[in-house]
Amino acid sequence: MSIYEEVEFEDLDYDPVTQIYTYPCPCGDKFSISLEALWDGEDIATCPSCTLRIEIIYDEEDLPPLREDDDDDDESGGEEDVKKQDEEGEEIDHNIASVLQKSLTVK
Ligand SMILES: [Zn+2]
Repeated sequence: MSIYEEVEFEDLDYDPVTQIYTYPCPCGDKFSISLEALWDGEDIATCPSCTLRIEIIYDEEDLPPLREDDDDDDESGGEEDVKKQDEEGEEIDHNIASVLQKSLTVK
């Protein structure tokens, strides 16, 4: 169990779409850890391409709220649209559009 580096939470890159934090790994890939895992108390991010890992220094106070899928229903009735899509490709496009829409309606 070797920790490559201790990294401050604020130095991580955050993707709000996937809710995953990443940090560059010296092997060229990226360490990654999900926001959900951080809320669960996990503080070790692993790299998918090598055995290195980093420890993330953070307080729960620093974490953005975890977005639950359940409470998205208030503004957009997006689910019915998905059911109307018969072609798989269309459904993926819809998911991307839906994610973009969510990121625009963050309160
Ligand atoms: Zn690596």
